Amino acid sequence: MSVLIVGSTALDSIKTPKAENPRLLGGSASHAGVAASFFAPVRLVGVVGDDFPKKYLQLYRKHGIDLDGLQIVPGKTFHWSGEYEVNMNNRRTLATELGVFETFTPTLPPAHRTTPFVLLANIAPGLQHHVLDQMDRPRFVAADTMDLWLNIAMPDLLRLIKRIDLFVLNDSEARQLAQTDNVFVALRKLHQLGPRFVIIKKGEHGSILSGPGGLFLAPASPLTKVVDPTGAGDSFVGGMMGFLASAKGSIESNLRRAMIYGAVTASFCCEGFGLTRTTRVTRADIEKRVKELEKLTRF
Ligand code: AMP
Repeated sequence: MSVLIVGSTALDSIKTPKAENPRLLGGSASHAGVAASFFAPVRLVGVVGDDFPKKYLQLYRKHGIDLDGLQIVPGKTFHWSGEYEVNMNNRRTLATELGVFETFTPTLPPAHRTTPFVLLANIAPGLQHHVLDQMDRPRFVAADTMDLWLNIAMPDLLRLIKRIDLFVLNDSEARQLAQTDNVFVALRKLHQLGPRFVIIKKGEHGSILSGPGGLFLAPASPLTKVVDPTGAGDSFVGGMMGFLASAKGSIESNLRRAMIYGAVTASFCCEGFGLTRTTRVTRADIEKRVKELEKLTRF
C-alpha cells in the first residue's frame, strides 16, 4: 500500500564541527519520503521554488517517489541552516527562510485522496490539517512535529492531535507539551489529548511506543560515527510508516517491528550529510542492520 507524505521540501545548509555543506536536499518530507521508499510506494506533497536543483528531483524519482503532489512555483525554495556542537545532540538553527512555503497551500491530486497511510511530517499544523481535510477515510494517520509549533501554533497542534492515530515527537517536546519531566507520565498525558498510539523519540537512546498493547522500548543502532544527524527523526518515522504500509496483518501487530526498521533507516541517515548516505543504501543493508539490532536486544 502507498504512503502519502506531506512536509517540508528544503535546501539545508549544515555545519558540523568537522565540515560544512551548503544547499543539500533536505526537509522533513524529503527525509521521510526517501526512508519510506525502501518499503512502499511514496506520494510526496510539498512545494519547491524554481531554484530547486533538477538533480534533487531526479533523486526523488530514483526512489520511485510520486511527485504529482509536489508544486514547483516561481520563487525561492525553503532554506534552513543549522550548526551542530561537538556534542551532536545540540543543534542551533542559524536561519529559516520560508521562501515559497510562505504562501503554500497543499492541494492533493484526486488520486492521492484515497491513500491508505498518511504521514503528516513536520510542517505547520495548519497545513497538516489542510491535508487531512482532503483525505478520504485513510487507514492510518501519523503526525510528527517540532518545538516551533508548540511555541507558536499550540491550538492548531492540539486540534490536530485529536484527529490522528499516532503522534510522534521527541522527548523534550513531549516534556514541554505534557508539562512533566517524566517521559512515561508524558505518554499517559499525551494519550489523553487523543491519539491511540504515541511514540517518543530519544535520539541515540532509541524510542518508546505507548499504545493499547502497552509499552515497547525500541533501541537505536549503536553508531560509532555520526556525520550529520539532520533528518534522523524524519527518517525514523518515514521508514516506520513505509514498513507499516508494506506489512500484512494488523497495524498494532506490526508497529514494534516497524519501529526497528525506522530506527535502522535513521541510523544510515546519520552516517552522511543530508541524504547522501541514505540514498546509497540498499534494502539488503537495512535487513543486515535489523538482524544486528535483533541480536543486540534478545535476552
Ligand atoms: P530533524 O533533524 O528531524 O529535526 O529534521 C531536520 C529537517 O527539518 C531539515 O531537513 C529541515 O529542512 C527541516 N526543518 C527545519 N525547520 C523546519 C520548519 N520550521 N518547518 C519544517 N521543516 C523544517
